Amino acid sequence: MYCSMCGALNPNCSDFCGKCGSPLPKASHKKYTSSTEKLRNGGQEGSEELFNKGFDFLKLGEPEKALKCFDEALRINLGNDKAWRFKRSALELLSMRE
Ligand SMILES: [Zn+2]
Repeated sequence: MYCSMCGALNPNCSDFCGKCGSPLPKASHKKYTSSTEKLRNGGQEGSEELFNKGFDFLKLGEPEKALKCFDEALRINLGNDKAWRFKRSALELLSMRE
């Protein structure tokens, strides 16, 4: 099957793209939550960046924007503990403004 990320052709039994390391949709399904170091690393970079962006917004006193970034970070990586923590902070800030 072809990798949706880089377009490289991979054997059908592969869980990950041999070229870019992206998880391949069909075969990766059952392993998605268990042994996915490559997926986790790949996901965490984007998640980390979004978290940092949200954190900056939080510092700037813009919890609405921060919240969007944290949500996006969590969409990529639900295991991003920092994003969860600061999402809560952003929500608290927002509720204090009401
Ligand atoms: Zn690929």
